[in-house]
Amino acid sequence: MVMIDVVVPKEVEDALAQKGISADMCKKLVYDAEDKKTKLVNKVTGENLTKKIMDNLTLYVIYAPAAPGAQPVTAYAIKKVYSHKMRMKNLVYTMPEEVKDWWCVKDNCPTVRGQYDLEYMNVTRMAPTLTCPKCQDSYIEEDIAAKPVAVAEMLFEKKRA
Ligand SMILES: [Zn+2]
Repeated sequence: MVMIDVVVPKEVEDALAQKGISADMCKKLVYDAEDKKTKLVNKVTGENLTKKIMDNLTLYVIYAPAAPGAQPVTAYAIKKVYSHKMRMKNLVYTMPEEVKDWWCVKDNCPTVRGQYDLEYMNVTRMAPTLTCPKCQDSYIEEDIAAKPVAVAEMLFEKKRA
């Protein structure tokens, strides 16, 4: 077995610390994703995307080979981490005609646009996802997690306050 190294840059480590997550936990996510093939790979950029549902948030990690083109890959670098607090509830529907660059590695097929119900503080909102048409595994993209979902979370928190 090839030992894979995972590099966590300082700015990513800082972003993780803000979410209360250690660099080691983040590395473990990458090892698990590589081990179990629970990841999406972007056929255009070569980046990988994996996620983990934690107690109070869902963490997404984007990573790529540290030395592009080198085979076998012996090191990955983490490019970005992001998260949302809303809980993934259920897949509402998919749009099979809207095919994405991200592929499900487990099923070796492209993802399509999905619409997923997310729940937070007893309120449900629908958000677009990258969804595998076979295993239905679904991922929220960074721009969605950063904007509409984050705004919804803030509004619900305010309502509660
Ligand atoms: Zn799949």
